Amino acid sequence: MSSSIPLPHGVGNLGDAARRYREKVELGKKIIAVREGNPDATLQTIADALGLKRSRVRDLVVGLGISRPRPRRGGRPRRAAAAAGPERPREVPLAERFWSHVNKSGPMPSAEALAVWPEIKGTPCWIYGEDPGKYRLVSLGPGQPNAGAHRVAWFLATGKWTKLDVCHKCDVKACVRPSHLFQGTHAANMRDMRAKGRAKFFGGGHRKVTAEDVAEIRRLGAPWVRHPRRKGTILLKKRLAVRFSLRPITIWAILNRRRWC
Ligand SMILES: [Zn+2]
Repeated sequence: MSSSIPLPHGVGNLGDAARRYREKVELGKKIIAVREGNPDATLQTIADALGLKRSRVRDLVVGLGISRPRPRRGGRPRRAAAAAGPERPREVPLAERFWSHVNKSGPMPSAEALAVWPEIKGTPCWIYGEDPGKYRLVSLGPGQPNAGAHRVAWFLATGKWTKLDVCHKCDVKACVRPSHLFQGTHAANMRDMRAKGRAKFFGGGHRKVTAEDVAEIRRLGAPWVRHPRRKGTILLKKRLAVRFSLRPITIWAILNRRRWC
């Protein structure tokens, strides 16, 4: 009765396959033996010794993984062999692999983003992967942690991994256009400063505000001063704080001319 149950495809041939494999292994052992007797044996001499075709010997050597590097004969430079058939790199370089996933005709930056970062006007986002709204991780190779796509873009643009956060000017999570990225938040900057012992002001945490910063903050923040509660400018103060690595209250004080008059 049980013999009438149909076996999964291929199972009926398992015995044959196993027998053929054992035969191959036996032949492989013979090939190795011939080689040990005669280290200069070529495929043809092995084939002649075993009564096989040369192509059969080659298939066995390759299929069983018992090929060995051919000894270098005098005078033939290694480079010539490389020129004849360049060895395929085992891994595609990170930059090539990374940019092959990037679509450079993504959305244009939003009006809110342009209010704080006017210099990215007219430059579309470069989207890594399919979904502009998703952070994506990039594999850096075995044994290494994955990294966010935007951090990898920063690394490829600057040549260095940063300990600070890499932030988006455009607020598009999947964007990897280097000009749309900037480094660090206030908190992260200050953590970094403290870690390096560079903090000088008020126990660490305050950054010197330059006259240029104040002028720029007032120029960019003018819409918020006019319409602090209007949709579209509500976030402006917070975004300026991120851009200039200052607290929102400091931005407020500058915009309302409570300080740095
Ligand atoms: Zn962008």
